[in-house]
Amino acid sequence: MYSTTPLANTFQASILHIDMDAFFTSVEQADHPELRGQPVIIGQSQRGVAAAASYEARRYGVRSAMPIAQARKLCPQGIFLPGRMARYKDVSAQVMAIIQDLCPVVEQASVDEAYADISGMTQLYASPRVLAEHLKKTIQAQTGLTCSIGIAPNKFLAKICSDWQKPDGLTVLPPEQVRTFLDTLPVSKIPGVGPRWHKELLSLDISMVPDVLRFSRAFWTARYGQRGDMLYDRALGVDLRPVLSHEERKSCSAEHTLDADTKDRDILRHWLLLQAERVGHELRKIQKKGVCVSLKLKFNDFSQCCRNITLGMATNTTQDIYAATTALLARQHLTRPVRLIGTGVSQFRLTAGLLPVIRTEQQAKQQKLDTTLDTIRNKFGMNSIARADSQIARACVTTDLLSKKSQRSDPE
Ligand SMILES: [Mg+2]
Repeated sequence: MYSTTPLANTFQASILHIDMDAFFTSVEQADHPELRGQPVIIGQSQRGVAAAASYEARRYGVRSAMPIAQARKLCPQGIFLPGRMARYKDVSAQVMAIIQDLCPVVEQASVDEAYADISGMTQLYASPRVLAEHLKKTIQAQTGLTCSIGIAPNKFLAKICSDWQKPDGLTVLPPEQVRTFLDTLPVSKIPGVGPRWHKELLSLDISMVPDVLRFSRAFWTARYGQRGDMLYDRALGVDLRPVLSHEERKSCSAEHTLDADTKDRDILRHWLLLQAERVGHELRKIQKKGVCVSLKLKFNDFSQCCRNITLGMATNTTQDIYAATTALLARQHLTRPVRLIGTGVSQFRLTAGLLPVIRTEQQAKQQKLDTTLDTIRNKFGMNSIARADSQIARACVTTDLLSKKSQRSDPE
């Protein structure tokens, strides 16, 4: 009855999600011993909301984002503090430095959360659990704070696991237990499924994760777009988002300010081809593929717009990028002449063989052409060779701009 699509072999990866326990109030309790064991709430203004609540305050039903007036009613003996953001940021930096010291690839997700990819560390620790225990001990010794850690084959599962035994928890989900784990998981536990969406899902009679698979991917995508596609992936246990350390590139782009402002779509398309060549080449060099392609236009009055398209499959081929930006351009109504045009690719996905990729013969040809051009460019430089189209493009750009210039005084 459920899809038999294999859970992608993302399981080779080991991802940690580290989440500090009641971070702001725990920092206050660590700095001020007299606050330990007390219901502490960050937020004082009568008209504001609580920024955080200690576990002691949570026992009274106080939650973060709750209006302070309501929190005071629920917990009149609560200690309401103004909060010290600068101090929390300092402690956060200290915690992140500890994680980075122990793990090679770390992505900070918020002031008190981080992902770490430890798939390359199997030689150094007996098991991911041993590493996580060491990490927890080090953080507690150096900051006096506890955290909860989830270890799983990918990001979304790791995040669910870090929340599983809070506070001071450590939950490991081995690859072979993922399916069983998901089979008994309420759909509301999937990050991104908020209260409103959850209500809609319940109206479709979907309460548990496997219920999602009663409908096809096409159903979910048609109904909820990218969000629906994500939900279907998660129900299969799939999450291809890599852990990206902040130094790592998150997008590739190229842009050009035109010699003369223009509304001529031929000229604009020619630039898009040159940019697709450049961006594609760069992506292949850093071994990234992206699913989001964007077109940036700046007009002669300096107003600008950016249009995005999300592809069904991550790409780094010149042809795919060019096809996407020209499609975006075709949809764009040009009320003013364009002075700058740009192409970007973002939302990178892992490139290594995670999912079987079925490519058409045409796509295979394009890939081969890209590889050949890359080899030549790596040897002789970016401008050493171009597709026939973009050679023509260069020539056209020059001549068209010249003829355009002479027409510039004509109002459009
Ligand atoms: Mg937290």
